[in-house]
Amino acid sequence: MTIYYWCSSCERAFPQDNPESCIYDDCKGKKNSLFKWSDYRKQSPEAPELPEFDVVYRLDYFINEI
Ligand SMILES: [Zn+2]
Repeated sequence: MTIYYWCSSCERAFPQDNPESCIYDDCKGKKNSLFKWSDYRKQSPEAPELPEFDVVYRLDYFINEI
């Protein structure tokens, strides 16, 4: 099963198993910027079950809560 991650740096998501950094070329997000999509959805319940590629999913307060 593919795991989706959400990058707090560019606020986009992508499918990847055990990523070391954000997969988007124009983003410098490292591993500590990545969160599982399931955890993102706990903060943002209206988010779709599976994220679309290269779509920005905003979240204002997530980082400060961790
Ligand atoms: Zn990113």
